[in-house]
Amino acid sequence: MSALNLRIEKDMAIIEFDQPDSKVNVLNKDTMRELDAAIDAVLGKSEIKALLIVSKKEGIFIAGADIKEVEDITSAGDAKEKAEKGKAILDKINNSGLVTVAVINGVCLGGGLELALACKYRVAGFSDKVKLGLPEVKLGIIPGFGGTQRLPRITGLTRGLNMILSGEMISGKDALKCGLVDRLFPEVRLVEDSIEFTRGILQKTVHTGRRENKKLFFVLLEDTPFGRAILFYQARKNVLKKTKGFYPAPLKAIEVIRRTYGKDFKAGSRIESEAFGELAVTDVSKNLIKVFYLNEEFKKLPWVAADIKPDKIDKCGIIGAGVMGGGIAQLVSFYDIPSRLKDINYEALKSALRTAKGLFDYAVKKKILRQHQADHKMGLISPTTTYRGFENTGIVIEAVVEDLNIKQKIFKELSQVVSPTTVLASNTSSLPIIDVAQAADHPERAVGLHFFNPVHRMPLVEVIRSEKSGDRALATTIAFARRIGKVVIVVKDVPGFLINRILLSYMNEAGFLFEEGMDIRCIDRIARDFGMPMGPIELVDEVGIDVGYKVAKMLESSYGPRMRVAPVLEKVKEKGLFGKKSKAGFYLHKGNKKEPNPVIYGLVGSSRPGRISDETALKRMIYIMVNEAARCLEEKVADRPQTVDIGMIMGTGFPPFRAGLLRYADSVGIGNIIKDLENFEKGLGEQRFKPCNYLIDIRDKRGGFYGTV
Ligand code: NAD
Repeated sequence: MSALNLRIEKDMAIIEFDQPDSKVNVLNKDTMRELDAAIDAVLGKSEIKALLIVSKKEGIFIAGADIKEVEDITSAGDAKEKAEKGKAILDKINNSGLVTVAVINGVCLGGGLELALACKYRVAGFSDKVKLGLPEVKLGIIPGFGGTQRLPRITGLTRGLNMILSGEMISGKDALKCGLVDRLFPEVRLVEDSIEFTRGILQKTVHTGRRENKKLFFVLLEDTPFGRAILFYQARKNVLKKTKGFYPAPLKAIEVIRRTYGKDFKAGSRIESEAFGELAVTDVSKNLIKVFYLNEEFKKLPWVAADIKPDKIDKCGIIGAGVMGGGIAQLVSFYDIPSRLKDINYEALKSALRTAKGLFDYAVKKKILRQHQADHKMGLISPTTTYRGFENTGIVIEAVVEDLNIKQKIFKELSQVVSPTTVLASNTSSLPIIDVAQAADHPERAVGLHFFNPVHRMPLVEVIRSEKSGDRALATTIAFARRIGKVVIVVKDVPGFLINRILLSYMNEAGFLFEEGMDIRCIDRIARDFGMPMGPIELVDEVGIDVGYKVAKMLESSYGPRMRVAPVLEKVKEKGLFGKKSKAGFYLHKGNKKEPNPVIYGLVGSSRPGRISDETALKRMIYIMVNEAARCLEEKVADRPQTVDIGMIMGTGFPPFRAGLLRYADSVGIGNIIKDLENFEKGLGEQRFKPCNYLIDIRDKRGGFYGTV
């Protein structure tokens, strides 16, 4: 079956993309071949004066190149050739001498946008579905079908560079503003109006003035050698600040555009293909593609039997308006779900509303929302100190202080107020869900719904299935969490659940390294140099040492000596040094700046053993997490390695370019990790390094977590 259809209407040719058996159109080898043949057919007919490219898919023009084909590339030469071939086809459109028009009815990304860029004109529907972008850098590559050449020429250097480096999409309206599209037409008449527009161009009755009035500032910045030098310098600086140099693609994109902008198109295109080839075979690109697939998979994973239908939530209850409850209320209202937010403390409610308002104001400033939208969403949060208004909630999320008695009391009270089918979800970070659930009538509707801090920024939630949680409650919670933009993993009801259990071992190990003589700045730098967004000690300060210590102690009492808490944590806590919130923890915090707190050195004594290499320190912090993750798989806390990897990336910021903790472990080699763990165990006499049976088993039987090494 064909992915496109060529229609001729008098002097106009219309290529209609409609990939069979797929919701989207993508550019793969076969589609490109068909496109090539269709263009040849059009060029062979002298009566044709115009070519329109349209899509028959609802809300999608072309979603991009086929990622599978990029993933399969194994040589830079092949990649370069692929790019050159694709470009040759798009160049045919560009050089056809016809009036060429891309009719963009929705998502137009990557290769799809490059195809549109090869047309002389682009028109789009007046619709929120229209989104244009070149997201290649997110997969560790750069556009390979001429995007780095055509986009900056059309939109101007600043805008084009920005789009390519961020990989972000822009709306149809913004595209019109920057000259990326020439007209917006009503969605329902898009094709008809586009044909009329094309006819107007042919008859010279329609004019498209583009970007003629460039502001002087941009003329100086983009069109003078000095201005451009500043622009590229600044772009590089921003990219390095954001990516810390771990991601080569945006830097390469800057280099390609710097070398080619305003110069010969053909030569520039070759440089682009070359760079595309180099990047397509990097580990970073292969890993980012794996993470992309993982993300897509986890968006849809059913977790419960397909015939269990979730209840639709029209209203949400939240108990506790602290850091987490307030954050959850803001997020829920952002997604247009009304919430009733209860606390026993007026000040907490006031502060939660203030924080939510701050986040909405920021969204307005960043043009994510318009003022009236922000006002409407803000109005969806309804604060209260009573249970009034909870009767008709479909889900209630409990986020009060971490105290079992209080949480049980709340579950009991809720049972009297809400309907027997209302899902009761606890955001506890450490208490067994089953213990909280016991207090509720119908404990089958109780689940854990563990958000990460800050709620609006961390993409993950863990949904915890207690031994009594019912499938309907789970399905409803999962659907609700996805509706508020979260990536969901479902995990077993064990102390620390999945992510905190793994992450705590890393933070704790950092405590031991400090006790053994390593400076905290050094420990944090090593972790950051590996790609972690924050060092473990910085993280301890961020989370709060009182909270972190409590959870660590709970894990120690549950899992025994291998989770022994580094004694320094207790000492720091005893001193009242709670971290960032008290302005002093391991670090002294002054605004955005911090420096080691001199007090902490006095807490670990002077007889510290001394020098540990950076390599050893890193291995200890990362491999201890690998070992704990292996135990979690052994105990079926997580169902498979993918769950751990997506959880660590989305919940802790584990570097995506390493494709996840367990993919990283596989790349190091499980045998090597076991050897190092055994050496640490011998050298330090600490049980916590003892490789678990699961790890040994996969080394012997499968080679790796993913069984591929
Ligand atoms: P917090 O101390 O900031 O807020 C707790 C709120 O609960 C306070 O406003 C308090 O007034 C209110 N409260 C206490 N008893 C109440 C009652 N009976 N009824 C209504 N409200 C009551 O705490 P937090 O950091 O938001 O944590 C809340 C929960 O989320 C805890 O279970 C915690 O373990 C969990 N959690 C916290 C984080 C985090 O990083 N802070 C992350 C994940 C999960």
